[in-house]
Amino acid sequence: MTETQRSLGPLLIGLTGGIGAGKSTVAALFRARGAAVVDADAIAREVVEPGEPALAALAEEFGHGILSEDGALDRAALATAAFASPDRTAALNAIVHPAIGDRTLARMTELADHGVVVHDVPLLVENGMTARYHLSVLVDVPEDIRLERLTTSRGLDRDDALRRIRAQADDAQRLLACDAVLDNSTTEQELAAGFTALWEDRIAPFSRHRADGTPAPIPAPASAESADGGESPSALDAAGARLVARIEHIASAVGITCTTTHTAGP
Ligand code: ATP
Repeated sequence: MTETQRSLGPLLIGLTGGIGAGKSTVAALFRARGAAVVDADAIAREVVEPGEPALAALAEEFGHGILSEDGALDRAALATAAFASPDRTAALNAIVHPAIGDRTLARMTELADHGVVVHDVPLLVENGMTARYHLSVLVDVPEDIRLERLTTSRGLDRDDALRRIRAQADDAQRLLACDAVLDNSTTEQELAAGFTALWEDRIAPFSRHRADGTPAPIPAPASAESADGGESPSALDAAGARLVARIEHIASAVGITCTTTHTAGP
């Protein structure tokens, strides 16, 4: 790792996708390339394990009925208590979200010497987090294929799987919010090929430019021949909105409030 890279920290990638899209499968591909992966779901489970301050705070707030006999969290009992009303849900979030945030920050800090750190976050788009990363990557699979995979390889009940899918952002929202898309609608081999292209064409050069402290080359303007196959106006609007959000995020991190507004569409 170069001095420039050390001072800039790792290239941070936000990885997302609907339930059952293949995030864990892609996370494994990232690990095979030497990237570190921080799993948001694993951290959410970790901070409420026995002995954790957040679990004690939950028991204090919602009563010891949310604990099973062995002292572990009884998730169903907590869900009943916490989703009873909006203010009970807010009380849950006020305990759990800071615990997750602190643990995530600690984990990211431990990984500061890695070249590439991937944050696997199922609700990255829903929580408006994409601007926090240098690159957001979507694992994209149409809903019907996810439903099929969740009910066969995962053994989920169809209605349960559908309910979970519908509780998340839809595919169109995710596509507009993320910088790069990995299609996982066919085989795992095709997914791996798409990942290799993403890594070699985009992530490795991005990481290299940061390490060297050199700007990336500006791509040649699209030729007339490619105009028809080029990005649609809504895709270009979305790319502009992502850029503005990223600038606003960086500005607010150094205490600057942006007064510009960005409106998508004509
Ligand atoms: P979750 O949202 O539940 O965390 P996920 O996005 O991490 O899921 P995976 O666990 O990687 O998704 O994949 C979901 C299921 O689909 C797994 O059983 C996995 O083996 C399978 N799967 C992933 N990609 C493919 C593919 N291209 N073809 C067939 N099955 C696949």
